[in-house]
Amino acid sequence: MDDIVNAKIEGRALPPKSFAITFDDGFENNLTVAAPILESLNIPATYYITTDFIDQNRMSWIDRIELVVEESPVEKLSLPWGEESFKNIEEKRRFLDNVRLHVKTTPSLNPDEIATQIQNQLGFDEIWSSTHPLDQKLNWSQVKELSKIQGSTIGGHTHTHPIMSYLNDNDLSYEIDHSLILLKEKGQLRHINHYSYPEGLEHCYNQKVIDALKQRNIVCSPSAIHGINDKKVDLFNLLRVTVT
Ligand SMILES: [Zn+2]
Repeated sequence: MDDIVNAKIEGRALPPKSFAITFDDGFENNLTVAAPILESLNIPATYYITTDFIDQNRMSWIDRIELVVEESPVEKLSLPWGEESFKNIEEKRRFLDNVRLHVKTTPSLNPDEIATQIQNQLGFDEIWSSTHPLDQKLNWSQVKELSKIQGSTIGGHTHTHPIMSYLNDNDLSYEIDHSLILLKEKGQLRHINHYSYPEGLEHCYNQKVIDALKQRNIVCSPSAIHGINDKKVDLFNLLRVTVT
């Protein structure tokens, strides 16, 4: 991502078919699986870390839902937008897409409360954390280790992973400042100038969010809007191709 920033500042075009690899949230497998492969291929990568996920091995609201939906047999759920049900894998996928759509587009819905409701309705106690290899987050010493790998850059991704455009001024400042403080203190990182927006869709960030990041010396924050970038794209509106 630094190469992209520098090319943009210098008005220089990147070579054809250039790409950058980025990871959001701070999963342990970024260090244990991805980083060694990328290092052996000499491919740099940027890792955007959600600091509370690191502090508490916490899961995002959608991962909290996926975990229980995957394990549940035929179920019927009563949610704020109506009844939902699923019987098989396809229906579970459609259900998860529907939940994402409703939660991400309705500011009044609290994503973690919805996750707890779904967990409870499916017969689980509240789950916030999992040591499953697909859920386990990095710890602070692993963040430090990751930052020392040749070609790796660490960026911020808020403290608790809220949709930034929904936050009031105080909460927005707290989410950014606290994430940067923890990365510097617990991650022992000197300069953080990269960031990415949680969820990253069009309505998940706005000019107020971009200005708040710029005030804190962030130089680039990609979205999660799907697409390939051209030379004209703004460093705070970069498109990405998601791999899940
Ligand atoms: Zn994220």
